[in-house]
Amino acid sequence: NRHIHLASRPHGAPAPDNFRLETGPVPEPHEGQLLLRTVYLSLDPYMRGRMSAGPSYAPPMEIDDVMVGGTVSRVAESRHPDFSEGDWVLSGNGWQDYALSDGTGLIKLARDMKHPSHALGVLGMPGFTAYMGLLDIGQPKAGETLVVAAATGPVGATVGQIGKLKGCRVVGIAGGAEKCRHAVDTLGFDACIDHRATDFAEQLAKQCPDGIDVYFENVGGKVFDAVLPLLNTRARVPVCGVVAQYNSTDLPDGPDRLPLLLETLLKKRMRMQGFIIFDDYGHRYDEFARDMSAWYADGKVKYREQIVQGLENAPDAFIGLLEGKNFGKLVVQVGEA
Ligand code: NDP
Repeated sequence: NRHIHLASRPHGAPAPDNFRLETGPVPEPHEGQLLLRTVYLSLDPYMRGRMSAGPSYAPPMEIDDVMVGGTVSRVAESRHPDFSEGDWVLSGNGWQDYALSDGTGLIKLARDMKHPSHALGVLGMPGFTAYMGLLDIGQPKAGETLVVAAATGPVGATVGQIGKLKGCRVVGIAGGAEKCRHAVDTLGFDACIDHRATDFAEQLAKQCPDGIDVYFENVGGKVFDAVLPLLNTRARVPVCGVVAQYNSTDLPDGPDRLPLLLETLLKKRMRMQGFIIFDDYGHRYDEFARDMSAWYADGKVKYREQIVQGLENAPDAFIGLLEGKNFGKLVVQVGEA
């Protein structure tokens, strides 16, 4: 049983020596327990917050803890009445080959599911985040302009596609020409702009001739600076994540833009609202599951994932996620299906 531990806390961007791979015996389930074998491990930006000691919306990991993470796994051995060997489950095994469970919090997946890993993306937590953040807080209306960054990631891609289903003009923001092409050609966005371009702010303004009505905030930083002056009166800004800031150790240089933000909030009568998906919307999961499984089955919502082979490659893949090296939902294949 291989497991990856938090060896030390990162200062700024995580580095390989913040992680430690260990090997130990495969645990044995007692009566009422099951042994889960990890097949897919989800890598998500929130893990960066859990590696730091400071307060976040979830308690930090302790040094030497096994890295946390959502997983799709198979029941390798069951001494629990509700599960049998071979069942697929959505679980939280973390970064390891095997984990014991007493069944609490496990969600059974259909045995014949074509792509079980999709339960970590469009059909799971990131999809749910996009759905609730956009529809409940963003309140998009036909004809409005919606902007979303990290546009090819599992949250952003889903936000933009739901925006199209609701009749919005959707402008994505992504890192690089290939991602931007994917957002337009495959996901059906109206436009997508590379945030690394020197004239990024001008390009964004050009693609939003009627301003921005809904800005789904995934990244913060320079992207938000470019969006702020374009926001319309009564714009809605669901604040989902600020991935551009997760590795920051200090406030950015340059003029203090907080007064500008407050003034804009007031004059434009904007609404900005943060949310933590399961804390705020856990009770509405069924609504999401119903709509998204139908959209996905009908091909109305498309999904791209990047599968990295091997648990030992999880640290590098995770470090890359925070730099935009992933293209689509980042998943590690830990074991054979
Ligand atoms: P992604 O797979 O989209 O990965 C993050 C992406 O962020 C990168 O691929 C990169 O895309 C982009 N990025 C990284 N650094 C920068 C930067 N400096 N400037 C602009 N873009 C940057 O992640 P997810 O779809 O899983 O998550 C998206 C956001 O949603 C995150 O902020 C995450 O924390 C948040 N989230 C919040 C939840 C909640 O409950 N509030 C739940 C789930 C996710 P690119 O190369 O295109 O720039």
